[in-house]
Amino acid sequence: MSMKYQSPLRLRLDRAALVSNYRWLEEKSGSAACGAAIKANGYGLGAEGVMAHLAAEGCRDFFVATWEEAQQVQRHLEASLSLSVFHGVRPEDMDIALASPARPVLNSPAQIARWKAANGGPCDVMIDTGMNRLGLSIDGLDLSLFEGLEIDTVMSHLVAADEDHHHLNDIQLMLFSDIAKKVKAKRYSLANSAGICRGPDFAFDLTRPGIALYGGAPHPDCELFIRPVVAPQAEILQRRTVRGGETVGYGATFTADRTMETATLNIGYADGYARIFSGSGAAIKDGARLPVIGRVSMDLVTIDVMNCPELQEGDWVDLDYDLSYTALVSGLSEYELLTRLGHRFERYWV
Ligand SMILES: *Cc1c(COP(=O)(O)O)cnc(C)c1O
Repeated sequence: MSMKYQSPLRLRLDRAALVSNYRWLEEKSGSAACGAAIKANGYGLGAEGVMAHLAAEGCRDFFVATWEEAQQVQRHLEASLSLSVFHGVRPEDMDIALASPARPVLNSPAQIARWKAANGGPCDVMIDTGMNRLGLSIDGLDLSLFEGLEIDTVMSHLVAADEDHHHLNDIQLMLFSDIAKKVKAKRYSLANSAGICRGPDFAFDLTRPGIALYGGAPHPDCELFIRPVVAPQAEILQRRTVRGGETVGYGATFTADRTMETATLNIGYADGYARIFSGSGAAIKDGARLPVIGRVSMDLVTIDVMNCPELQEGDWVDLDYDLSYTALVSGLSEYELLTRLGHRFERYWV
C-alpha cells in the first residue's frame, strides 16, 4: 500500500510553455547569452524543476537571491552551468559560499574585502546605476577595489525597464556602458525580462530574465508571445445547496438571493490565494466560470457552481489565474501572484 500523500491542491506547470518563453527571450537577447532568475523558489514554480528544464534547453546561467536557495539547487549544477547569488556574502555565509560552486554577486566594499581576504575565487559584482538598493555606488567608486578579484560578470539592475518613457532607462544604460569600460570582467549583464524588450543595446553579454519565463508580461511586447506556465488547481472537498437568504463564509458577506449550488475548494489565503479574491475570483471548469462567493478563508474557498451543477466532491477545478488580468483586478503584481503560491501545492510538470 502506498503511503504517499496526495495533495488536494496542485500547481500544473507547463514545460513546453516555459521552454517557449525561454526561446523567445533568448532570441530577443540577440548575441547575448540568456540566463534565468530562479530566486524565490523559481518564482514559486519550484527552482529545481525550472532549472532542470531550462538547462536541458541550453540555459547556462542561473541566479538566486540567497545561499539557502543556492544550496537547494546546487546538486543540479553540472560543470557547464553557472549559479550566482545576488545578495553577496555576509560573514555568516562565508563557510557555505567557499564550499559552494556558486558565485557571490559582491555588492559592497565590505563584501569585496571579505571575499578577497578569503581568497574566494570567481565572483560577480553588482554596480548600482540608480536602484539604490544593492550594489556599489558609482559616485566616488574606487577602481582599485577590484584589483585581485576574479570577476566573471559585472552587472547592474534596471529600475523601470517596464516603462517605455522612463528617463532612468537611458541614464542607466549610459552609466553601465561607461562602467563596463572601466571594470574588467569576462561578461557584462544589465537586462531583466523587461530590459530584454528594450532592445539589443540593453543585452550586453548576458541577460537575466525571471518573470517573463514564468508567464508574466512586464512589457507590452511580451504579451503576444509569452505563454502562461502556471495553473493552480484545487479539489472539491464538499458540495452543498444553499437556500435563499442563507449566507456563505466568515462575516456572512455573501447572501444567496435564491437556492444555489456551491462547492468548497481546498485552497485559501495560506496557499497564496489572496483574500482580495473574495467575491471577485473564479474557478474554471470546461470553460465555465464559477465565481468565488463570500470570503476567502485560510484553507478554503467557496464557489458558485450553478454553471456546472454536475460537479461532485472529489472533482478538480482550475483557479482563474491569468496573470495580467488577475494583477489588474487584485492590485497584486504578477511577481506577487506567482511567488506567494505556497508549499501546500503539489507541483507537477506536464
Ligand atoms: C529578480 C532579478 C532579475 C529578474 O527580473 P525579472 O523582472 O523577473 O525579469 C534580474 N536581475 C536581478 C538583479 C534581480 O534581482
